[in-house]
Amino acid sequence: TIEFIVGPIENYEDQLYGYKTAHESFILIKDKAWSEKLEKYAAFLPGLQKALPCEPPYKNETPGVDSDMNVYDAIYYAGDCNAGSKTIAINLPNDEQVREDKGSRKLQLKNSMQAKFDKILVPISEVLIAEEQRKHVKFDAFFENTMFHEVAHGLGLGNTIDKSSTVREALKDAYTSIEESKADILGLWCVYQLNEMGEMGEKEMMDNFVTFMAGIFRSVRFGAASAHGKANMMRFYYFQETGAFERDATTGTYRVNFEKIKESMLSLSELVLKIQGDGDYETARKMIEEKGFIREELQKDLNRIGEAGIPRDIVFEQGAEILGIK
Ligand SMILES: [Zn+2]
Repeated sequence: TIEFIVGPIENYEDQLYGYKTAHESFILIKDKAWSEKLEKYAAFLPGLQKALPCEPPYKNETPGVDSDMNVYDAIYYAGDCNAGSKTIAINLPNDEQVREDKGSRKLQLKNSMQAKFDKILVPISEVLIAEEQRKHVKFDAFFENTMFHEVAHGLGLGNTIDKSSTVREALKDAYTSIEESKADILGLWCVYQLNEMGEMGEKEMMDNFVTFMAGIFRSVRFGAASAHGKANMMRFYYFQETGAFERDATTGTYRVNFEKIKESMLSLSELVLKIQGDGDYETARKMIEEKGFIREELQKDLNRIGEAGIPRDIVFEQGAEILGIK
């Protein structure tokens, strides 16, 4: 099965209000075996929505039930998606109304993910993750964290609890950063919750926590200017303040605390869901201003990744010649 995606899709380029979207397209080949494995998770969306770690009014919407989730190998990226950082997962459409009425589609780009894991995430963990925790950096955990980030975009609310506007309108220029924060932290929470429900098979949640931590270092190298970058920094400093990880000054590595990162994940999820439901622009702005940038100590650690020669992103060799059809 060949999938073709095209259109004006993401608003990352519009740094004024985040309304205008840029054109891009993908050509993908469906991975049927992996897609089947993922199919079962769509059925859990309504249950996950009900179980969200927040007060009832902040989860009082029904997520689209026919959301489908599939895995692909990408053979061509063009336009906005091939201009800077390379996306490894897509969740479309972005429009809340269409999502609520029709559900959404999640596309996981597995070959791009595997390349980033092997060439970037593992080498980063060898520099910045405490030695005894490096064994927890696993591709399956990376795949799950990324996959459930996309699932989590479908959780929470599309409209504020007083129904006066959409969350997007209420949070204006802060919306994208807060929405990405939600997807990141609730994505991790989905894995945790499904594991608690016994739906994840043999799993060590510590793998997901440590891989998630290594993932923050990978993502934040793209800078804190983008919505994803700000979301990463807010979470990093929230984790630091709540003791989810500690930096070992002698080795310059980071160590995750299992119990504390779990608590931190739950309280940050609740906070973000509340900001969205209240359409609380003030608190959203304040969080971005206080935490949405890279402080000096972290910058020095990021420089060590650069000095180790670890690439920031993958670059595609693509086209008819590579495919041997020219
Ligand atoms: Zn996202």
